[in-house]
Amino acid sequence: MVYYAGVDLGATNLRVVVADDEGTIVGSCRTGTPRGPTGIDVTEAVLTALREACKEAGVRPEQVTAVGIGSIGPFDLAEGAVIDPANLPNTIDRIPLTGPIRKLVGSDDVYLHNDTAAGVIGERFHSDRNPDDMVYITISTGIGAGVAVDGEVLTGWDGNAGEAGHYVVDPRGRMTCGCGHEGHWEGYCSGSNIPDYTRLLADDDPTLTTDLPLEDPDFSAEDVFRLAGEDELADHTIEQLAHWNAIGVTNVIHAFAPIIVSFGGAVALENESLVVDPIRERIADMVMTNVPQITTTDLGDDVVVRGALASAMTAGTGDRRLLQS
Ligand SMILES: [Zn+2]
Repeated sequence: MVYYAGVDLGATNLRVVVADDEGTIVGSCRTGTPRGPTGIDVTEAVLTALREACKEAGVRPEQVTAVGIGSIGPFDLAEGAVIDPANLPNTIDRIPLTGPIRKLVGSDDVYLHNDTAAGVIGERFHSDRNPDDMVYITISTGIGAGVAVDGEVLTGWDGNAGEAGHYVVDPRGRMTCGCGHEGHWEGYCSGSNIPDYTRLLADDDPTLTTDLPLEDPDFSAEDVFRLAGEDELADHTIEQLAHWNAIGVTNVIHAFAPIIVSFGGAVALENESLVVDPIRERIADMVMTNVPQITTTDLGDDVVVRGALASAMTAGTGDRRLLQS
């Protein structure tokens, strides 16, 4: 019997699944990502979680044929390690992943992806059409894209292909992105930036009435969506978010010609009618090439770990024709 494993290493949570040759999950482990003190502690936690998932599946780690990893970045791809991750303590400068996992399972077939690349691999694998050309876009704390073109999942030489959240959408650059640059899509439309963008819109037009707690430090994107249809400022903000989202998605479509664009991330999934539907409505008039199907992921929170598993089963691609039988 052949077994596969998928690893989702996030800044907060660490998940591992082990599946049989059909992709049926037979063991799993979920734990918090350790805050260090060093990167090796994070590596050890990944190996422990992998051992635990194997134990639950009743298999030895050496019986795992291939492992896919969807991880926070950035990466040193040649070394198969995470380098200076942004959302973990500064004492963590390097998290070796590929090498130690290869050693544990005794296989060279270990594939490291950023979380959005794992997302497109999973979406492609689980899509009815298993398309060669597909994009997965997450709108959550940040915005990012995983891209498959001609059947290849794009990584770029340094692992940084697909940073669509940092597309310039507003040449006026009124909002500054978390990366420090102005006018980026993520600077307007990600969950962490929607509150400040709403404040900016309130300043622009003080005649808009609102019950939004603009002065409250806990004011969040959820507040804006919750008041949709009953608050002038919330409605104006949602309209403007749709405007920038449609520009960002149009740019993605023109760059990569996907057949399907699938959305994930809390902002998109929890507010599908307010975030995804308006994108679908607008792009038909904005795209000069073929207009792709716009969907949301069915995998929810599992999209990265299931994508990592799909990567393990298809040599890092999500292409079902590569399934080993
Ligand atoms: Zn940026």
